[in-house]
Amino acid sequence: MTPKLELRGVAKTFHGNGLTVPALADVSFSVQPGEFVTLIGPSGSGKSTVLNLIVGLLEPDAGEIRVDGEPARPGRVGYMPQRDLLLPWRTVLDNVILPQEVRGVPRAEARARARERLPLFGLAAFADAYPAALSGGMRQRAALLRTVLTERDVLLLDEPFGALDALTRRELQDWLLGLWTQLRQTMLFITHDVEEAVYLSDRVIVLSARPARVVKELAVSLPRPRRQGLIATPEFGAHVAELLQALGIDV
Ligand code: ADP
Repeated sequence: MTPKLELRGVAKTFHGNGLTVPALADVSFSVQPGEFVTLIGPSGSGKSTVLNLIVGLLEPDAGEIRVDGEPARPGRVGYMPQRDLLLPWRTVLDNVILPQEVRGVPRAEARARARERLPLFGLAAFADAYPAALSGGMRQRAALLRTVLTERDVLLLDEPFGALDALTRRELQDWLLGLWTQLRQTMLFITHDVEEAVYLSDRVIVLSARPARVVKELAVSLPRPRRQGLIATPEFGAHVAELLQALGIDV
């Protein structure tokens, strides 16, 4: 099967202010259609750089990035950056339609399409609310809805739950898995939380410290649907231990 997304020998070094920062040495991995893959690695190992390259915000120095077997072009994948970037002066509805508006979709049509999706994102009662009235979890759901509405079939999510409290984070993990089951989109998720990586993923890709290489690919052999109780099982613990070891953390 042609992978949905494939990176082959991707390298990237940043230059600026008299500094040379080799971020990615040699990164290769692929994601199959409909798969949920998580990229994990130490802070500063180049995870966001990988996403920026896939989206086309950066150019690799070497290597190839393919989507559906073709060289990646900007606009092929949906990207949710770490910060939710909701505009405080726009309502939830008008925030989530922003990318479509930019592309020239008439506002009424974009709004109608977004309204249909609001219940799935738990935002039905908040269409006309402003971001300041939303909880952290709701803001992240709104940001994800905005990404989903771009109708790309690969979604890149950069630490979407990083700033949330532990309980909200767990709720959103379950919600995200439910959403993924419904949408059947290909997901590339970034986190530095090992348990989150195991809980969500079909496969976890571990990057080394900078300059990054792939040091491990772990297939998560835990059944779905997953429930939070899973994290207390020995099987779950064994996956976590394997990832911690790959990250060089004593277990
Ligand atoms: P992660 O997402 O894993 O925390 P990043 O991809 O953000 O890591 O960063 C990887 C490394 O590249 C870091 O050392 C960071 O300082 C550096 N870096 C990222 N973007 C730039 C840039 N635009 N210019 C210079 N250095 C950068």
